[in-house]
Amino acid sequence: MNASMKREPLLEVKHLSVEYDAPNGTVHAVTDVSLTLHRGETFGLAGESGSGKSTLAYAVARLLNPPARVSSGEALYYPRPMPAQNGAHASRQAQSGGGAAWQPFDILRLSEEELRSFRWNDLAIVFQSAMNALNPVMDIGTQIMDVLWTHQSYLSKEECKQRAVELLQLVGIAPDRLKSYPHELSGGMRQRTVIAIALALSPEIIIMDEPTTALDVVVQRDILGEILRLQAQLGFAVIFITHDLSLLLELADTVAIMYAGRLVEQGSQRAVYEHPRHPYSYGLINSFPSLHGPRRKAYGIPGTPPDLRAVPTGCAFHPRCPLAFNACKTRLPLLRQVAATAEEGAPEQVACHLYNQAFREEAPTSADIAAAYEAKAERGGVR
Ligand code: SF4
Repeated sequence: MNASMKREPLLEVKHLSVEYDAPNGTVHAVTDVSLTLHRGETFGLAGESGSGKSTLAYAVARLLNPPARVSSGEALYYPRPMPAQNGAHASRQAQSGGGAAWQPFDILRLSEEELRSFRWNDLAIVFQSAMNALNPVMDIGTQIMDVLWTHQSYLSKEECKQRAVELLQLVGIAPDRLKSYPHELSGGMRQRTVIAIALALSPEIIIMDEPTTALDVVVQRDILGEILRLQAQLGFAVIFITHDLSLLLELADTVAIMYAGRLVEQGSQRAVYEHPRHPYSYGLINSFPSLHGPRRKAYGIPGTPPDLRAVPTGCAFHPRCPLAFNACKTRLPLLRQVAATAEEGAPEQVACHLYNQAFREEAPTSADIAAAYEAKAERGGVR
């Protein structure tokens, strides 16, 4: 986040739950998740596959289809005051008497028409596979202009073309590529094109769902650098979804870790990286080698993520946790605030009984968690 920006809320997700109705049981994909994205912030969502991170983001973008359904919660969006605006803002402002420019509205309750406008003007998505996100039989210039024509019909054809050229240049693609088809571009250029389309209407929020997973590491680094540069220049906020926590540690202001559909830890990038409090976060961070700082022993997390039709009782992580004790099997740990150091910034939130004084007087140190993983590894099955 740009240091000069105040931490103004842009999106507040409150107690959001998403379920999938399946013939063999209800899948609890996201359960009671609350989080706040601030203006200009990069918010990283991490967790193993199936932890609910993409479902959460797609629920906020209203991109879920049946059998998925939002069973509870809200997603409040705080628009900027824009007097001459069309679409979701204007309509909502009119409903609230026209003077409530800063009044938030619930994305989950927008009408289809409001949603159509909201999706590109305020929120855009960069999907994982650029090849699937782009139309293979249309040149990229037409695909960018399509978005502009649809949402800014007052622009002339020439103005749309000019804007498409500017967008390509913005993401480092030469204007002579306007007539190129997706298959004529490298993987990195395709992903840049998708980012250019997402930026077309200058949205406030861009959801990036594993945007660099399909790219080699050098191109991945280029794209991440590009995202940071564009964000500093344009000031949009990013929800960055990845299973690769190491990416977030370079990119995100705030990191949230999900497990079995719930948020289990949330804090500043520095706090989560340097002092992961939740045993699952600790395991996740120590599953990959560290690029910076002292060498660390890499651990795996024993076991596999739970079946979301039958989430374990109490703490869902207890069957895999090296620090689990009796209460973990029966009592659900709720997110609670824990003290953070001055360098770590915003207070940490952790859902683990180890940070509840009713169960343990002193919170565990990183060394305690490491020792528990070490002991479990020696007993077999962790590495
Ligand atoms: Fe482990 Fe218990 Fe904490 Fe869950 S609540 S992470 S099982 S110690």
